[in-house]
Amino acid sequence: MIPFHRPAIGDAERRAVVAALDSGWLSMGPRVRDFEDAFGTAVRAQEAVAVSSATAGLTIALEGRKRVAVPTYTFAACGAAVLHAGAKLVLVDVGEDYLIADVPDRCDAVMPVHFAGRRARVEWGGRLVVEDAAHCVPGPLGGDVAVYSFYATKPLTTGEGGMIVTHSPEIADRARIMRLHGMSAGAWDRYAGGSWRYSVEAAGWKANMTDPAAAMGMVQLLRQGELLAARTRIAAQYDAAFVDTPVQVPPTSESWHLYVVRVPDRDRVADALAARGIGTSVHFIPLHLHPYYQSLGWRPGDFPVAERLYAESLSLPIWPGMTEGQVAEVAEAVLGALGVPA
Ligand SMILES: *Cc1c(COP(=O)(O)O)cnc(C)c1O
Repeated sequence: MIPFHRPAIGDAERRAVVAALDSGWLSMGPRVRDFEDAFGTAVRAQEAVAVSSATAGLTIALEGRKRVAVPTYTFAACGAAVLHAGAKLVLVDVGEDYLIADVPDRCDAVMPVHFAGRRARVEWGGRLVVEDAAHCVPGPLGGDVAVYSFYATKPLTTGEGGMIVTHSPEIADRARIMRLHGMSAGAWDRYAGGSWRYSVEAAGWKANMTDPAAAMGMVQLLRQGELLAARTRIAAQYDAAFVDTPVQVPPTSESWHLYVVRVPDRDRVADALAARGIGTSVHFIPLHLHPYYQSLGWRPGDFPVAERLYAESLSLPIWPGMTEGQVAEVAEAVLGALGVPA
């Protein structure tokens, strides 16, 4: 059995979480503050605001936008965030590189998705750019705002979690209020400052991070060099195994969060690997092919490039603890399913 993913959690994460539990402060407190400072420094952003998920972070970052362009080739979170923010969703097709290619003039915001850790264009002529950076932790901030995910399968995990980063103190201050009930100060500030006072300034969300989660995130951040090196080694081994075969390997990635190949008969390959106990996944079923988005009027055929990529794409296991033997076994199973002689 080779699972699609296994998180890289070790003794250092365990010790950090236990220390957070023993501190007596379980909600958002000093460890969240420290993690924000360290993460902001790592992505070279002036401001970092920890949240409960990237989905919540995207929703908060899009407040007040009217029309937001989102590539259809992405995860459900992106479409839902636009709609929860009260904006109109404008789905667009992607290029052959899986990245957002064009944005209609009428959009006042753009959400480039750095698919599989490849940088999408972030210059969109004066419109607010909110990057979905879920796949390129902890790459640098490129647009106005970037939102990272620390979901269990992501390169840096806190179980569930996310981070909004920006150079703008105004955007960051608003995010700090909106992640916690629209309140002017969090419980830790009130506790540390010895005051019970707060004022509610908006109908905010409940989307803060917790201290035990931040403690795990801090350790994962410090381990990014080691974890990325492991994923890079696996990608190189796959690349070598697929040379001169019908398997089209991905171009390079900043994070190697995913290793997405293009194969002629994706479903047959996925089934063959499943039959051998090898987990795979497909990133992504384009948004406009889901029932909910079809109920909003989109139809199959609307975004031909995304549909073609979707039909051929398969994500292979690429988690830091994989052995050379396991990577070889996955590659051999893919080639076997395609009838390529070993
Ligand atoms: C994982 C992911 C998200 C959502 O992240 P959460 O932290 O689970 O909300 C958003 N966009 C993309 C591209 C993702 O892969």
